[in-house]
Amino acid sequence: MEENKVALVTGASRGIGRAIAIKLAESGYDVAVNYNSNEAEAEKVADKIRSYGRRAMIVKANAGDRGDVNAMFRSVVKELGHIDVLVNNAGVVDDAFLLMLSPDSLDRSLNINVKGYFYCAQAATLKMFKAKKGVIINISSVSSMMALPGQSVYAATKGAINSMTATLARELAPYGIRVNAIAPGFIATDMVANLPEDKIQEYLTQIPLGRLGKVEEVAELAAFLASDEASYITGQTLVIDGGLSL
Ligand code: NAP
Repeated sequence: MEENKVALVTGASRGIGRAIAIKLAESGYDVAVNYNSNEAEAEKVADKIRSYGRRAMIVKANAGDRGDVNAMFRSVVKELGHIDVLVNNAGVVDDAFLLMLSPDSLDRSLNINVKGYFYCAQAATLKMFKAKKGVIINISSVSSMMALPGQSVYAATKGAINSMTATLARELAPYGIRVNAIAPGFIATDMVANLPEDKIQEYLTQIPLGRLGKVEEVAELAAFLASDEASYITGQTLVIDGGLSL
């Protein structure tokens, strides 16, 4: 691998983003750790990255705010030099049945889960164009492919990401930029821990492999997609769900 490859992972203070940031550091990347509110956890992730001998920085930004996102990319390029890999991971879930859905919740989900992915993809692509290479990985969800009551908004946001991934892959392929999505099933993070226990038990019965996924398993897939070993893969949404969506 070339020296000084740089990755930016959004929402990397906890959960899947944290595991991806650490795995990328283990794979030789300097990593920018984006967070929204949890500075102490982001700092711990950065320390872990440095323990692999890589450079790390933490950068606070609301991924759903265009101004924040642009400022984040400026500071990452200033400190780490360039961006080879963007992992669009920061996301929120706010389940509600249609008639209980509040406009604020709808706006928040669309801002972070959809607009935020576009803002970051735009900002990253501006940097990657010059290098004629780059990788964008969008964290989607199997909820985009399954009909789970209460998840209409979440599913719609993740479905948008799958479509965005395929289209951007075609748009950006001539510039050496690959774009793929990962659609995890139920992965053991705070997001799933916040679900009611009876819901988790119900979902477990529907997962052929009989357990929740681990963040490290998603991180392995992200690191593969980021690597040159995945050089002929673009535009795909890869499912990692223990068979849940079968
Ligand atoms: P999580 O444990 O709830 O962690 C969310 C992360 O996103 C945190 O680092 C949080 O930062 C950050 N974040 C939230 N809002 C943000 C914003 N506006 N701007 C920047 N960062 C923000 O979530 P997770 O389970 O790891 O999920 C990560 C991604 O995987 C999401 O896109 C989610 O939809 C997707 N996913 C998760 C599962 C699952 O089962 N867990 C399944 C399918 C897909 P702070 O700590 O600073 O708040």
